[in-house]
Amino acid sequence: MLLAQLWSDFIQLAFPNTCGGCKSALLADEDMVCTSCRLNFPLTHFHQMPANNPMFDKFKGRLPIVHASAFMHFSDDGIVQSLAHEVKYKGACELGVQLGRWYGYHLSATDIGHRFDCLVPVPLHRERQKRRGYNQSACFARGISEITGIPLREDLVFRSKATLSQVRMEREQRVANTADAFRLFADASTQNLKILIVDDVVTTGATIEACAAPLIKGGCETIGVLALANV
Ligand SMILES: [Zn+2]
Repeated sequence: MLLAQLWSDFIQLAFPNTCGGCKSALLADEDMVCTSCRLNFPLTHFHQMPANNPMFDKFKGRLPIVHASAFMHFSDDGIVQSLAHEVKYKGACELGVQLGRWYGYHLSATDIGHRFDCLVPVPLHRERQKRRGYNQSACFARGISEITGIPLREDLVFRSKATLSQVRMEREQRVANTADAFRLFADASTQNLKILIVDDVVTTGATIEACAAPLIKGGCETIGVLALANV
């Protein structure tokens, strides 16, 4: 395991243009992800049944939700875990943007652009964003916005509480950890807005729910959720 990690880090150093999914060296005409990984993306197709899928069920009854979809299925091994990790920890914002563009093409085949007013990436606490240099969900949302034309809004909600990492938490702990973690900016209004919240990996949905709370309190009409991957 450790050796495999060392080898993969070595490959990254020696060949910086490696695939974000499988780490193999990219060909000249490949951009960030190799053709083989792209052809094997474990797509969910949830956007074709946005109110009737396992991700929607996570939020049903908890939010005024009308759409939930994820680009890919997440699993602890394989290319999606690797892509999500690259985007989150390896400074690969541009990979996040590119994944957002690819998802944007799928979404553009639906009426989603007419059903929502804006994309709101789940914000990071400013300390964490400063350390990371970017918000991975905002990178993904930027790519989606570019292709679908749905405007990106990062001026509505912010993260007021620096929550702990949730990787090893159960659902109850996650809810307590994220409660009251988000707030509207002082001059922001969400009155009558139809908002798509954008996240990277959706596990229990507790973060989305917490992020939606102030948006709903501010009077937004409907909520949708878009994610890079659904666990
Ligand atoms: Zn690959």
